[in-house]
Amino acid sequence: MKLLIMGRPGAGKGTQAVNIKEYYHIPHISTGDMFRAAIKNGTKLGMTAKEYMDQGLLVPDEVTIGIVRERLLEKDCENGFLLDGFPRTIHQAEALTAFLQENHIRLDAVLDVDVPAEILVRRMVGRRVCKKCGATYHVEFNPPKTEGICDVCQTALIQRADDTEETAINRLSVYDKQTAPLLDYYSKQNLLKTVNGNQPLDQVFEDIKNVLGA
Ligand code: ADP
Ligand code: AMP
Repeated sequence: MKLLIMGRPGAGKGTQAVNIKEYYHIPHISTGDMFRAAIKNGTKLGMTAKEYMDQGLLVPDEVTIGIVRERLLEKDCENGFLLDGFPRTIHQAEALTAFLQENHIRLDAVLDVDVPAEILVRRMVGRRVCKKCGATYHVEFNPPKTEGICDVCQTALIQRADDTEETAINRLSVYDKQTAPLLDYYSKQNLLKTVNGNQPLDQVFEDIKNVLGA
């Protein structure tokens, strides 16, 4: 399976990616996670990315396209991959199409997890993530068994620096301007599969398996 997962910020891409990765045995490649890891490691890439991420803006295309190309050439992507959070601009999508053609790779589907913008600020502001294993929770909609502690590895949960109300609102407007046009781009290629992301977590995953037909 060679898949992209799209959707507004907070739609549940990362949450569903965990299920998809396990079910289809493919690596989960999240550009947001790659940037957060670079910030944690204090690299030059991390310093550049942080400037944009803290404001809810997109990291420049030339930086982002470069790291995705490198990652997709790694051996574990040979039999499939799930790209999450990339592409986010038409320029990124065109660069990805060119890269895939050069390497004779065909996408199987582009999933769009559709959730109305009105409920997404609450999803982002209530999001908590494990600083060690990256598991994602929500204080209201998907709480851990013990408040503030990861179910998987018992590490303290944190709030992402960009999950403030102000930044979440900016990210939704950046999505509308820069990323929403990609739905049309992939629809024209007959790759787009839309699922209703405004349902319980398990139901969203059932719908994903159904649209992928496997
Ligand atoms: P994205 O990767 O699209 O930004 P996440 O997967 O991190 O989104 O989900 C954003 C927040 O919403 C998280 O706190 C997550 O636990 C919660 N969430 C995800 N899917 C659902 C859902 N179907 N219903 C309610 N809350 C959800
Ligand atoms: P995410 O983890 O997908 O919510 O992404 C968090 C932030 O990382 C975004 O708000 C952007 O600042 C940055 N980012 C992630 N993916 C991309 C991308 N494909 N292009 C540009 N910036 C990105």
